[in-house]
Amino acid sequence: MTEKKDHSVIKTGCEALTACLPDHSSIPRLGLGTWHMGENPQIEEQEISALQAGIKLGMTLIDTAEMYGNGRSEQLVGKSIQGFNREKLYLVSKVYPHNAGRKNIFNSCENSLKRMNTDYLDLYLLHWRGGVPLSETVACMEQLKADGKIRNWGVSNFDIDDMKELWNVPSGNKCAVNQVLYHLGSRGIEFSLLPWLQEHGVQTMAYCPTAQGGTLRRGLLTSKAVLEIAKIHDATPVQILLSFLLYQKDTLVIPKSSTAAHTIENAGASLIQLTQDDIFCLSREFPAPTRKTHLDLL
Ligand code: NAP
Repeated sequence: MTEKKDHSVIKTGCEALTACLPDHSSIPRLGLGTWHMGENPQIEEQEISALQAGIKLGMTLIDTAEMYGNGRSEQLVGKSIQGFNREKLYLVSKVYPHNAGRKNIFNSCENSLKRMNTDYLDLYLLHWRGGVPLSETVACMEQLKADGKIRNWGVSNFDIDDMKELWNVPSGNKCAVNQVLYHLGSRGIEFSLLPWLQEHGVQTMAYCPTAQGGTLRRGLLTSKAVLEIAKIHDATPVQILLSFLLYQKDTLVIPKSSTAAHTIENAGASLIQLTQDDIFCLSREFPAPTRKTHLDLL
């Protein structure tokens, strides 16, 4: 009989998993999402425990947004990071497209900083493309950097044409990250966007990495391939989904969980090293794209 692995063992490889940004700073590859967190005061303590469990396991990147719970997710992050060394954390927030111009972005950023109890963000993202010209948003992002309010900036939900347009804007090529929907059951970005980002030194941050606990793609977590690879690695299906993304070059992964048990399980993905054979097996059931498809959005 094989011994079952204890997924609550507090030992992970998260801290060792980092990627390098164009300015040579490093960014953790496995972090924590926060969408819908902070919205229900009755589970605040549980959510703080979940985030703190992740931080203690080395999932020091926390992704949030001014949009999430109208700032309540940022407040939850602010409470959760109390007592931790700020320099060891990597805090990411996002600005609404309608706030991403000269008129509002500086206030938006200041309000995010206040809610998160910090005086700088490691990364500030444009949540999605809106009506403000890219050149104006980029100039503001560079100003925030110069003012010491943010260390890096990036975008989210940008497809390849948006990225090419961004590259034609002054300082547009200083974009460090593009955060997009990416999981084993949604691999469209692998056709052209992911290679383009890799070629241009932009990190891809995968949101919905567990396909929202499998709900975005029915049958994903119970598929033959995922179960088979999970068995080989003595891992859970969710861990296989996360390790599939960590296998990709220049990809950051931000699973969200409101429970410490799930967070601990997710952190365990950092110890799984998939092989080419594993990827081949997963790809037979969930093939890489053979043509350009629209960027998957939530
Ligand atoms: P996700 O992380 O794929 O899935 C979250 C769901 O999976 C939650 O219901 C969670 O339940 C469940 N879950 C987590 N770990 C699990 C485990 N080990 N076993 C079973 N279920 C598990 O999806 P997401 O939250 O949509 O995306 C991740 C983060 O990306 C967000 O939180 C947000 O920070 C960011 N995001 C960005 C955008 C954008 O437009 N830029 C869009 C969506 C998301 P429990 O909470 O009960 O554990």
